[in-house]
Amino acid sequence: MRFFLYTFLLPLALLAVHPKGLFTVVLDPGHGGHDRGARGEKPFCEEKRITLQTARLVKKYLEVLGYRVVMTREADAFVPLEKRVEIARRAGSHIFISLHCNAAPSSAAQGIEVFFYGGEGVRSLASQRLADAVLSRMVYRTEAHSRGVKRGNFFVIREARMPAILVETGFITNPEERSHLRQPSYQEKIARGVADGVDFYFNTRKTSSAGVEPATCRLGGDRSIH
Ligand SMILES: [Zn+2]
Repeated sequence: MRFFLYTFLLPLALLAVHPKGLFTVVLDPGHGGHDRGARGEKPFCEEKRITLQTARLVKKYLEVLGYRVVMTREADAFVPLEKRVEIARRAGSHIFISLHCNAAPSSAAQGIEVFFYGGEGVRSLASQRLADAVLSRMVYRTEAHSRGVKRGNFFVIREARMPAILVETGFITNPEERSHLRQPSYQEKIARGVADGVDFYFNTRKTSSAGVEPATCRLGGDRSIH
């Protein structure tokens, strides 16, 4: 009896407690290796380092919520953009989230903005819904300025075959925001915001008489790429 309990019932019970484990989230910390990304002035600060630190925290929070998480890089290594998209496809990922830091000529520029790739019907609509959910919860957690949800033609969100967003967590060229972005406590706020947004996205996905709408949207015949 005990054997039966542990072999059959316990896994079922765990599945009931963690049904979100059925959903896979790919996190893509921008840049890495010789690709340093945006660099702020002193105190020295590199985008590739902040994106990886933040992504690790997002992974932690998503796993607490019961999601399966795959990272496109776990260390300070260069990963080509094509490879990042390929990792998401092979992982059977339901959504793709790329993390970056912003830069601008003016040191006054600040805030969070989230990009999705428009013009692909169902996938774009799902990506926009994910972007809205993530941005609103990031702004709630961090109290940072919201620059809004925007359409963007970035390689990873354009080529991904699942709902995909690119999150600009803040401006590395703004001294105040740069100091925030480097702080573990602020990175925690960003990470919790992203995880909250992902959880809202999956919890509110549409259902139909046929059951739950797949989180991954298949493209129709028009797969034109800009
Ligand atoms: Zn970047």
